[in-house]
Amino acid sequence: MKLSFHGADRGVTGSCHLIECAGKRVLVDCGLYQGGRELNEQNGGPFGFDAGSIDYVLLTHAHLDHCGRLPLLVKRGFRGEIVTTAATRELARVVLVDAARLEEEDVRHQARRAQRRGDRPAAEALYSVLDAFQTMEHFGRTGSYGQPLELAAGLSVTFLDAGHILGSASLYLECQERGHRRSLGLSGDLGNRGRPLLRDPVAPSRCEALIMETTYGDRLHKSVRSSVEELYQAIEDTHRRGGNVIIPTFALERAQELLYYFREGVEQGRLSRRLQVFLDSPMAVSATQIFERHPEGYGPQVATMLQAGRDPFVLPGLHFVRESSDSMALNRIASGAVIMAGSGMCTGGRVRHHLKHNLWREECSVVFVGYAAQGTLGRQIIDRVPIVRIFGEDVRVRAQVHTINGFSAHADRDELLAWHRSVGPERTFLVHGEEVVMQQFAAQLTQTTAEMPALGDVVEL
Ligand code: ZN
Repeated sequence: MKLSFHGADRGVTGSCHLIECAGKRVLVDCGLYQGGRELNEQNGGPFGFDAGSIDYVLLTHAHLDHCGRLPLLVKRGFRGEIVTTAATRELARVVLVDAARLEEEDVRHQARRAQRRGDRPAAEALYSVLDAFQTMEHFGRTGSYGQPLELAAGLSVTFLDAGHILGSASLYLECQERGHRRSLGLSGDLGNRGRPLLRDPVAPSRCEALIMETTYGDRLHKSVRSSVEELYQAIEDTHRRGGNVIIPTFALERAQELLYYFREGVEQGRLSRRLQVFLDSPMAVSATQIFERHPEGYGPQVATMLQAGRDPFVLPGLHFVRESSDSMALNRIASGAVIMAGSGMCTGGRVRHHLKHNLWREECSVVFVGYAAQGTLGRQIIDRVPIVRIFGEDVRVRAQVHTINGFSAHADRDELLAWHRSVGPERTFLVHGEEVVMQQFAAQLTQTTAEMPALGDVVEL
């Protein structure tokens, strides 16, 4: 078995790992690099392998940093099969088409700008909406949690609950090579235990080697309950001051989880029944509808609600905003609104408009409920840079800024350590984390030494 590393190596985005075993070439994830121009430019670079030679792509989940380079893979000659859970397949369609649309829009804007300057348009879209649709044709079999799926003779994969987002999975790969049984675990992104929407992560049984994420390998999260209270409090305080609450939201999972807590808060009288919540993201709206169709992906509480015909994501003052004209109309609301919009790191999307209109007002709040990578607008606001640039304009950061980390969809250090212990691998490869975080996490792994592959590294097992 041969492993090679082609993304999220000593970094948190662009997940892409190649496994060669039993005569097959299996790619696990093919994610986009995100955050800052330098990283974005990396997306168009070579993969480090021949796209046409890949037999299978296994997706751990539908986040863009795990699936966002798939259309490029297809564009460059991939003709194999993409295997996922059923929910990931549906979510990936929404995510990829949306990414392609944004990519096309972005290139059009740049071309117009170049024309106005009298330059020739240089940029070309990474991939088109058509490429995204063509990618969907490569989605083949789907895996069910806990049931081994034979990819080819002597090669099988088992999808296991990762508890990160709907459909997310850790993978357990088994293959027969020259009469030997080899095994490899891949964590994908791991979620927290004891959350209301999803089941807890399940660790693969003992494997020879493990490729593991380390996003929050250096810190402990506050309990989700205290985070929910903090969120309710931030909303109440802001509305009392006469402002709006802007929540930069990842469209998958986080948006639905917040809706779940808003509904609960209103039902329990912790939030006003008049609370007006705007989910201003066509992708989040579609994702919410997909969530409603997959009771099999949930923990018992939510599955029971869905089966009884109760929608866990709906509250009286909820508005789904799809059209951009309706989104723009939100700029006229001076107070009393909770606006959730993407992107979560504020690198693009409608949230930038809402920030432009609310960030300079001290009565407003911006509530971060997720990770914002170095170099993103989100991180600048969290770090309270006095002035940020949005759409070419300087905007003063005067709103209250809350960072509530208990909603994280990523396991914290202790959860990662416990998960690693129950796998007990002979060799561990750390990926998907900032390098300093990885080093700190590696130091905690007392029973084994962990390796931190660099981009392009190749390992024979
Ligand atoms: Zn993820």
